[in-house]
Amino acid sequence: MATELKTVRQQLTDLRRQMTGMERDNRLLSIMSENADRLRRTNEADKKLQYLYNDMLLAYCPNLVFLFDKDLKLQLATRSCLSILPFGGLEDMKMRTPEQLFSSKMDAEWIAKITGECREAMESRKTRQYNDRITFIDGAGYMDTQTDVSPIVDEESGLLRGVLVSLNDITELSVTKERAEDASRSKSSFMANMIHEISTPMNAIKGLAELLMMTDLGDVQQAYVSNIINSSNLLLTITNDILDFSKIDANRIDILKSEYNLSTILKDVCSLISLRAMEKDLELVVKIDPALPDKLYGDDSRLKQVMLNVLGNAVKYTDKGKIAFAVGGERLGEGNIRLDFTVTDTGIGIRHDEMSTLFEAFSRADLNLDRRVVGTGLGLAISKNLMLAMNGDISVKSTYGKGSTFSFWLPQTIVAGAPLASVDHADKKKVLILDDGKRGKELASFLEQLGVPHVHIKNTIRQALPGWEDASHCVYYDGHDQTELGKLRGSMPETAFVVIRDIRRALEPPKYADMSVYEPLLLTDLAAALNSNRSSAINKGRDGSAETGGSFKVREAKALFVDDNALNLMVGGELVRAFGFTVIEASSGPDAIKICREQKFDIIFMDHLMPAMDGIEAAKHIREAPGLNSKTPIIVLTANVVGGMKDHFLRCGMDDMVSKPIDVADLARAITAWVPAGKLFKADGSSVPKVEDVQAVPGFDLVKLLDEFGMYAGDVMRELDGDLQTYINRLRQAGMGLGDLVRYLNELVRLEDWPGFSRVIGELKEMLHGVGARDCAVRAKKMEIAAVEDNIAYVHQDFKSLMGNMYMLERKLDALVPLAMGKKKEGYTPNDPVKIYSLLQDLQITLGKRDLGTSTEIMEELARCSFDHDLDMLLNSVRWAMEVGAFEEAASHNITAVAFHKQKNAIT
Ligand code: ADP
Repeated sequence: MATELKTVRQQLTDLRRQMTGMERDNRLLSIMSENADRLRRTNEADKKLQYLYNDMLLAYCPNLVFLFDKDLKLQLATRSCLSILPFGGLEDMKMRTPEQLFSSKMDAEWIAKITGECREAMESRKTRQYNDRITFIDGAGYMDTQTDVSPIVDEESGLLRGVLVSLNDITELSVTKERAEDASRSKSSFMANMIHEISTPMNAIKGLAELLMMTDLGDVQQAYVSNIINSSNLLLTITNDILDFSKIDANRIDILKSEYNLSTILKDVCSLISLRAMEKDLELVVKIDPALPDKLYGDDSRLKQVMLNVLGNAVKYTDKGKIAFAVGGERLGEGNIRLDFTVTDTGIGIRHDEMSTLFEAFSRADLNLDRRVVGTGLGLAISKNLMLAMNGDISVKSTYGKGSTFSFWLPQTIVAGAPLASVDHADKKKVLILDDGKRGKELASFLEQLGVPHVHIKNTIRQALPGWEDASHCVYYDGHDQTELGKLRGSMPETAFVVIRDIRRALEPPKYADMSVYEPLLLTDLAAALNSNRSSAINKGRDGSAETGGSFKVREAKALFVDDNALNLMVGGELVRAFGFTVIEASSGPDAIKICREQKFDIIFMDHLMPAMDGIEAAKHIREAPGLNSKTPIIVLTANVVGGMKDHFLRCGMDDMVSKPIDVADLARAITAWVPAGKLFKADGSSVPKVEDVQAVPGFDLVKLLDEFGMYAGDVMRELDGDLQTYINRLRQAGMGLGDLVRYLNELVRLEDWPGFSRVIGELKEMLHGVGARDCAVRAKKMEIAAVEDNIAYVHQDFKSLMGNMYMLERKLDALVPLAMGKKKEGYTPNDPVKIYSLLQDLQITLGKRDLGTSTEIMEELARCSFDHDLDMLLNSVRWAMEVGAFEEAASHNITAVAFHKQKNAIT
């Protein structure tokens, strides 16, 4: 007996030890079945002991364990179950079903779920494991559980005996996790606030320095001031890095996807980096695969951020030589592409032992070598996290002392297959390259890629080359002998001369060139230059470049500047005054509202964060007060420059955003965009052209076309007293804003932010009503009401279909409005039934091949040219099915569309 007791004691100790482990990794089942095995094998005396062992297990196991037979009747349970269920003892619970066991404590949904899981586990004979929350219906709070549902199978016979449910209470763990997350959130919001605090004085420093720069300064003073501006820019970059990092740390990186043009971000990034490279006399060579699709879907600003960081580092850590940036990709099928970026430099390189920690936060390799280089050591950590968050990655290879190559890649969705750079009728062009001895070969290879015939000549020539008198373009880098260029040009009257120049010389007009392209030469820019000819370049302006809007003034224009910080008020006010405005200053929201009741302004600049009343609320009051300034554009000023902020402000009723510290170029952009055209003048006194001034084209019956499309254009025109210009402007704005609104709404539905949804769909409703899409407006209104009343099922019912209509409407406006304004839209013929028929047939083929990329392109084209309301509805169904990858369904809707269109237009 003594030995037996000793064994029991020993086993109990073992059991306690095992159970402690069990709290995490639920091993109860295996222990019980181990015991069952042992029982089978052992003799009668030992069996007693084993029974005792099992009893102990049931008595002391902290998990709530229920053992049911095949009919889901309870056979066994641990004593701990009595702590939550209202039974006197385990015997009372026996033979009860889950419903009978749990219904007095747990809600019906949980009971149904656990019953379903038991059945599934028995059927599949597989253990099911998941985390869950039980909410007690008697008001006793909740319990977070790690739930295991395991089938019990007799090993020898293979027969199913029942199922074991084990609930492991992890409430404490999840509370701790929540607390940690809370702490992290408050840390991150503390960071955001700190950065705001730092940005405010920085705004003043940078602004004052920019003002100083506008005054007469000696060379030394100019150098000092320019250093102040550079340093404040640097500080701004660092604070932004910290802000991003604090978000990554709190696991809250937001990846906001939208449609974007790859060519645009490449251009933006390269222009910025080229300036930094030029300052260090580094060569920047950009190689882009021209066949890459241009229109993609993803988070372009995050991608841009990574590109800027990696390219910026290459410039930072390279003193001489060159930086090569290559952009390529590989199609992944199903309308996706893997984009590949490679940045190679001839810089200081990275030591082998430092490579492994390079992507960790605050790691700065080889500090001794680059102490003079400023940085936080956060950039690569942020880049790595961003790439991972976008399902991509980043890696590095480097030879210490020689240079490094950073590669990063990520998948993106293709919106349209049109290539990034292509030259129309490339084989019919003829290009003469004048080589300055350095970069002619690179130019030739670009032309090769674009498929354009070319000839390559060393140095300038005075006469057209025999056989090349009729060359379409002559391309050269800046720096050739001007007299010789003049002569050559004289002998080639039809040829467009394209000069590739340093951006810092952009303000001097080139003497003999029709067009300028800026370094680093991008394939996209070269293709664009080759797509225009000499006469179109001359019409556009000698330089061929678009209006920069940089050097202009306003006349008789009045601005209100609102900021609670006296220094910002002075600096900002002065910056605006420098454009020629009469500026009135207000130091608080209520102040601004009061002034707006008395004076009319052309533009209002409004600080975002102010005590007592913030900018958004003040703007709302100004808009709502009848009279003077209800329609005045309001530009919000903010130091909170996190991605997506601009959209947020626009939704809150602001017209535009300028970030703080105020950048003069950004301020100029906002002023040209919002101040009435009649008040803007270029330095030479001529007025600055604005898009709003485009006249409606007489004879083009826009109203009739829109009516045919099922809109109420005629009604809108009557309401506007026949003012077509205003109507066209409304349509333009709708065309530009629709895509954003749709994306925003999709996001709100995903986040289940119903108050936000009802507000934004309310905006959509107004917009639709204003342009005459009144059926859709009614549907939007119903959804707005449903969202307010929490009738989410109704929202889901019509949401996708309405968004489909918005897609069609956006394309329709995109095709029609330029026509109505007299701008010819390439290849566009409204309502050409034969063309539509052939497109529909093409679509049938591509849908059959499950080729989403081409189908989407055809759909885009169809959406632009189908003008029949019924056909549009049918196409909407096709598009909807395509969107969810239901190709067969899409094809079947499309067959209906083909038949309908054929019959209606009597096509044989
Ligand atoms: P930092 O702000 O210090 O540049 P990053 O996270 O961007 O921070 O980079 C981390 C470290 O990696 C840098 O401090 C530098 O030592 C090293 N590094 C990054 N890019 C390069 C490069 N192209 N050549 C050499 N070293 C580099």
